[in-house]
Amino acid sequence: MLFPTSVIGSYPKPKWLLRTLSNPKASSEEKARALDDAVRLVIKEQELAGVDIPSDGEMRRVEMTEYFTERIGGFTFKGPVRVWGNNYFNKAAVVGKVYYKSPMLVDEFLFARQSTNKRIKVPITGPYTIADWSFNEYYRDKRELALDLASVIRQEIQSLAKAGADFIQIDEPAMSTHPEEVPWAVETLNEVVKGINGVKFGVHICYGNYRALFPYILEAKVDQFALEFTNRRFRDLDLLKEYSYDKELGLGVIDVHNSRIETVEEVKYGIGEALKVLPPEKIYVNPDCGLKLLDKTVAFEKLKVMVRGAREMEAEISGNGKR
Ligand SMILES: [Zn+2]
Repeated sequence: MLFPTSVIGSYPKPKWLLRTLSNPKASSEEKARALDDAVRLVIKEQELAGVDIPSDGEMRRVEMTEYFTERIGGFTFKGPVRVWGNNYFNKAAVVGKVYYKSPMLVDEFLFARQSTNKRIKVPITGPYTIADWSFNEYYRDKRELALDLASVIRQEIQSLAKAGADFIQIDEPAMSTHPEEVPWAVETLNEVVKGINGVKFGVHICYGNYRALFPYILEAKVDQFALEFTNRRFRDLDLLKEYSYDKELGLGVIDVHNSRIETVEEVKYGIGEALKVLPPEKIYVNPDCGLKLLDKTVAFEKLKVMVRGAREMEAEISGNGKR
């Protein structure tokens, strides 16, 4: 199959889920049931849209680093920090050596797997981004912290692999924001995947400076990079050619910061641009980033268009022979 479709991870939470979670009268059992229902719903929506490799929509996570820093030993919380606009997150501080306590995503994965027959992608926040988005009050520098976090994340991935997860995406959005740190950030990625077999590894990086990623990311022992390209109007794809990139590409063809629904032609144009630099069998198709900030109906419509574009492009290529 050409151009398998997937998501980056997050999906808009249903309004009734948010109401239940914020209702002080709701019991923890009611909240747990609502979360289960929400996961089944968003997986089915992705399936209805035709997505080949869905995720559980990260229904059980509030924010991409907080979920992990709450569960990894060595962190404490310093209260809300403003990140952009009126968005806040509870910034963690490292106050001791970080350590793995117990599985963080295994239950989430097992529940998702029993909710679908499709292959599931499990997103996990990477060590560099967790280190970059935390206050460091213990380690000599960010690199030392990130390397220790890499071993914690590796232990979680070992737990996931043992539970049957076979497609794990390491989310590293911070990696394109500090160009001078990319060389050692890639080292931490390799620490994460070290010695783990039977798992397909993707890495998601979005926004920021993609030129700074090269040539370093070519050294990452992962199968795929899932990158945002719609937002940057498919510029920077030539970097892949310039550096003879030969991994798979998760091509972002849906803008998650804009509620206008793309056309099928726009999706096909994006895939066409990627075909100028990579052979078709290397190209996966996904949105630029997580969908969680979109209206849920808009997210669903965008996924439908994305899948239609991928399927039409596949049909055209198979019909016409190789481009
Ligand atoms: Zn992203």
